[in-house]
Amino acid sequence: MQTPMIDYIHLLLESIGEDGGHVASYIPELAQANPDRLAVAIATLDGKVYVAGDADVEFTIQSISKPLTYALAIADQGLESVLQHIDVEPSGDAFNEISLDPDTGRPRNPMINAGAIAAHALVSGEDADARVDRIVDLYSRLAGRSLSIAEDVFESELSEADRNMALAYMLRTVGKLEGTPTDVVRGYTRQCSVSVTVRDLARMASVLAAGGVTAEGERVLEPEVNRQVLSVMATCGMYNSAGDWLTSVGIPAKSGVAGGLMGIMPGQVGIAVFSPRLDAHGNSTRGVRMFERMNHDLGLHLMNASASVS
Ligand code: GLU
Repeated sequence: MQTPMIDYIHLLLESIGEDGGHVASYIPELAQANPDRLAVAIATLDGKVYVAGDADVEFTIQSISKPLTYALAIADQGLESVLQHIDVEPSGDAFNEISLDPDTGRPRNPMINAGAIAAHALVSGEDADARVDRIVDLYSRLAGRSLSIAEDVFESELSEADRNMALAYMLRTVGKLEGTPTDVVRGYTRQCSVSVTVRDLARMASVLAAGGVTAEGERVLEPEVNRQVLSVMATCGMYNSAGDWLTSVGIPAKSGVAGGLMGIMPGQVGIAVFSPRLDAHGNSTRGVRMFERMNHDLGLHLMNASASVS
């Protein structure tokens, strides 16, 4: 591509066109978001971050936290033990579906709420608060700055958390939840309420793209853990449109209901976008479109194949 990256991403924002869908309103505080926010950031493995639009506006990480906490659960408990609690099969279900395997009781995957709540409970910590502290610390190391929790969003979401609470009690009845459901859902809700910008998400994505190592050379995730996380993001990261996403954009990604979306090009870059209006699957409407455009313009898709014929 001839256009410098920074010019390209500005052009991308200018030409992205009409928005569609609605901001998430099931968490009252999210309904207050300015729906017109729009931002994109691309972070290289050596620490450069190109940004355009509302790149310093904070929003809550929501479900983009799920792969990160899953990584910590594996680092703490080992993959075998985590797999005994949480499967890795795409479910095609909505994020808050009660999606448990009828034979084993395991949640289908860690990217839906049931699996994410089980993963949160597998993170080590002396108590529920210590567990959350370790989780926020991991996110901060990935982002390269100290992150904090948006208490207003946390309180708001916890006041409407009946469905997640029900999932946690269900998980306990099938022996897949460590700890007390109320503590776990409180902690999971805090993890979802961590405040980030697209700049942070792009940088986190770049660490995953580098196999778990920051631009400064700090290893945050072991290579096997990183690979497991990217694999699950590729197959299950985009709610019930994961198959659409893998075919049309073709990179591991995770979206959140606040309008963030993070994608990873292994070995190359981390990309993040932010636009709060969501499509019918709960993914950012313009966010998905921006990734589709970037795939078209930059060739992101991991299944692009070619062979030189002699
Ligand atoms: N905290 C949200 C929930 O559990 C996350 C949902 C999402 O971003 O998909 O309902």
